[in-house]
Amino acid sequence: MDKKVIEKIKKDLLASKKQLSEDLKSFTKKDEHTKDEHHTKFPDYGDKSDESVQEIDEYTTNLATEKVLESALRDIDNALARITKGTYGICKYCKKEIGEKRLMARPVANTCIACKTKLQKMA
Ligand SMILES: [Zn+2]
Repeated sequence: MDKKVIEKIKKDLLASKKQLSEDLKSFTKKDEHTKDEHHTKFPDYGDKSDESVQEIDEYTTNLATEKVLESALRDIDNALARITKGTYGICKYCKKEIGEKRLMARPVANTCIACKTKLQKMA
């Protein structure tokens, strides 16, 4: 793959990683004991029951968002690791090139469209 394209994708990945980390930080607190783990803060609006319902509601939503953001971050980290190792853009199943177009649309992809389609049919 074109080095320039990979450089551009890497920049995009780093930018989204920064954005995602900031999003995560906005509603989670870092756990000092486990590196890279975020935990959703339990919001505190007060003790009145309607407020508690709101707290639980927000907590549940944040937990779900946290999972989505964390998995997105993991995908980005894996993609960045593949760039470092020089295996970026290679399908992990058939070892063929994934193709620039697919990678531009989905930079964290690690399978080509043919393999992905096959996997989806099996699922
Ligand atoms: Zn493949």
